Amino acid sequence: MKPPIIAGNWKMNKGVKEAEDLTSGILEMVKGIDDREVVLCPPFTALYRVSELLKAKTIKLGAQDLFYEENGAWTGEISASMLTDLGCKYVIIGHSERRQILKEDDIIINKKIKQALKYSLSPIFCVGETEKERKEGREKEIVERQIRLGLKEIDLTFRIPFVIAYEPVWAIGTGNTCKEEEAEKMHIFIRGLISKLYTNDLAEEMRILYGGSVKPDNIDAIMKMPNIDGCLVGGASLNIESFCRIVEFS
Ligand code: PEP
Repeated sequence: MKPPIIAGNWKMNKGVKEAEDLTSGILEMVKGIDDREVVLCPPFTALYRVSELLKAKTIKLGAQDLFYEENGAWTGEISASMLTDLGCKYVIIGHSERRQILKEDDIIINKKIKQALKYSLSPIFCVGETEKERKEGREKEIVERQIRLGLKEIDLTFRIPFVIAYEPVWAIGTGNTCKEEEAEKMHIFIRGLISKLYTNDLAEEMRILYGGSVKPDNIDAIMKMPNIDGCLVGGASLNIESFCRIVEFS
């Protein structure tokens, strides 16, 4: 049994009061839905308040990043134990905005994944090619490199749920969704790679999410694809109605 995941990545949006309103609205609208996992990833500054609202609820809390060191002189950074302290279950790692704008490379991402797993935080490990790489026909090569290096020397057989999000960079925040059949091909490729690197069972169990301009009007088609196990949603997760419509996909 692997329930699909709909995760909302709020990015650098929502102050504490807005986060409170959004969380309360979502809690109200998705009451009674128990066949899918919903994850909210607010900015760090709203995690505490959102974690209070989610106490004893089925919606899970996620962070948008962590740092790979335990503690100490790392100004501005947030550790894995700080996130577990707040009740986070998930953490997004390797988002393309961090790879591209903040220059995070595969080595940093690998360290972050190791640190998350050490604290039993489930990574939502983002991979995906740029528009240029896709035009050059290199999408599989790029995603394979990101996965091999991101998961280097990592044993995934110790049963902390691990999630991969395939997010073609050219589809993020652009309104340019990757055609669902195209996304499905990439998901099949990723699952095959995980099976090669680990085991068939682990690959089958792993949830592989799609991300990139997911909206209420394309979610149903995306979720019909057999290898798409959920979505990581950016822009459309900032509004109660649109996020809840996505959660209620059929
Ligand atoms: C994201 O940031 O992970 C994302 C998929 O954004 P959007 O849904 O806005 O394209």
